[in-house]
Amino acid sequence: MHIPEPYFTEIDPTILSDQTIILDIDGTLGYDGATVIDHATRTMVARLAQRNKVYLLSNKPLPDRNKAFAELLAVPYLHSPYKKPHAKIVESLAEQERGNIVVIGDKYITDGLFAKRIHARFIKVRRIRAKNEGLKAKAAYAIDNIVYSVLHFLHVL
Ligand SMILES: [Mg+2]
Repeated sequence: MHIPEPYFTEIDPTILSDQTIILDIDGTLGYDGATVIDHATRTMVARLAQRNKVYLLSNKPLPDRNKAFAELLAVPYLHSPYKKPHAKIVESLAEQERGNIVVIGDKYITDGLFAKRIHARFIKVRRIRAKNEGLKAKAAYAIDNIVYSVLHFLHVL
């Protein structure tokens, strides 16, 4: 049975406080490869940042875009030599920020597995899709769902 997840803007921000939130970008804050973030998304990030430490983290090699988003949203970008789902990403957090981590993202094999490996909570959000989404992005998401089903069946996730 498939229960549709909420979009990022539909999360209840009051459920999170005193957490370190590691927030995905592509598919979560905007469509894959987006260079703009809408108002509702900016508001949600601001609300989460009121009571939590929020970091952006993307596997996409778009450093200028990622930096611009961090500035726009007024939250830091988490710089790490590792990519999700590598557990060593947490080494880039200050010691006191490693206790209560929540990973928010749209993909199981990056965000979900990363959360699992660092024993963090995972909030899976519904992916924001571009109107004319490319075949590559579609395929990546289809594969993600299959991998999730298999991992879930094997009790890995
Ligand atoms: Mg994503």
